[in-house]
Amino acid sequence: MACMVCDRAGCDECGNVGLIYIAACPLETIGGDVWNALKFIDLYEKGLPPIAGGALDQAQNFIEAAAIVFGLKQIYRGNIGKNGQARG
Ligand SMILES: [Zn+2]
Repeated sequence: MACMVCDRAGCDECGNVGLIYIAACPLETIGGDVWNALKFIDLYEKGLPPIAGGALDQAQNFIEAAAIVFGLKQIYRGNIGKNGQARG
């Protein structure tokens, strides 16, 4: 499949071939910590942050992880391209 970092352009992550090869179920590579983060991000999106308070009260790495997940959701929903450009 196309490299998720460079979208077939070639980068260090894919060895400049633009593709990544999947030899096992990708879900097996996701650890429990990531699943937990995804659960908290889902709750955060619904207005329930993991730490009481606002966005400035949350851990910086949690906010960054949530931003990545929200961006990926926009891509998968077709609202924006992988380059971040809005789609009409
Ligand atoms: Zn790449």
